[in-house]
Amino acid sequence: MHITILGDIEGVCGISSWEQTGGGGPLYEEGRRLYTAEVNAAVRGCLEARAHEVVAMDGHGGGYPGGRAFMNWIPDQLEGGAEYVRGYRWGCYTESMAQDLTDRANAFPDGAGEDRYEARAVALLGAHSMAGTPDGVLNHTINADGWHGVTVNGQVIGEVGLLAATAGAFGVPVIFISGDQAACDELRAAVGPGLTTVAVKRGLGRYASRHMAPSDACAAIQTGLATAIGGFPGAWPKPVVIDGPVTIEVELASPDRAEALASQPNVELSGARTVRAHGDAFLEAWGRIWRPV
Ligand SMILES: [Zn+2]
Repeated sequence: MHITILGDIEGVCGISSWEQTGGGGPLYEEGRRLYTAEVNAAVRGCLEARAHEVVAMDGHGGGYPGGRAFMNWIPDQLEGGAEYVRGYRWGCYTESMAQDLTDRANAFPDGAGEDRYEARAVALLGAHSMAGTPDGVLNHTINADGWHGVTVNGQVIGEVGLLAATAGAFGVPVIFISGDQAACDELRAAVGPGLTTVAVKRGLGRYASRHMAPSDACAAIQTGLATAIGGFPGAWPKPVVIDGPVTIEVELASPDRAEALASQPNVELSGARTVRAHGDAFLEAWGRIWRPV
């Protein structure tokens, strides 16, 4: 079983201000510690459920003097037994990550247990809700200043939905989410009741929350993810597959931002502040707006 943990920081327990999510100040160091503790808890949950391979990707841009984006975890505090991806752009869950990387023929010569061995799933950690969610802590979609919202085939979608659709394009389900209550609710609406959710806090507006003690949140994440993985195969939700053709529209904050995005191939202006991309399938349309590095 191969579990990919896609992490973000805004939905981590104890986080409620941008100062905790980047910049190199003392509050950012506090945020990094909390985020690192939660990814460690998620890894322990995977190992407890006997996942064969665990890869955690830091999906929070953030950044600090001397560091690049997506480098928030404190490396020497990371849990053993997993691999970690840092400095790699958000949302670029690729073909190689969806593949079984190990030699299954040697592991299961008679095929016994092969289904479980080959199974793949995604867990979202520290997730936040889409831009404009009233009770969503630090809610935003992709870019808190520059992007006002995204629709896919006319339906509004946030980062958790985009990640679920990206994994779904590879046939991989999202089985677990932790974050604030609004993010959990948002993804459950897209994935269905089979999704395991661990809400570590409830938004009291964009910059305030009522949250668990971080140690309690870590325990809930570990237990929740282990239980979700253990539900294989019957209790796992289906992958989120968006039928083509697909039109993705992004509402930007200002016309100059729209013009910059529309200068990319196959992206057109659809209004003064909106751009639109089309594709036969989700990844094709999304890739026109959001390109892997
Ligand atoms: Zn983030």
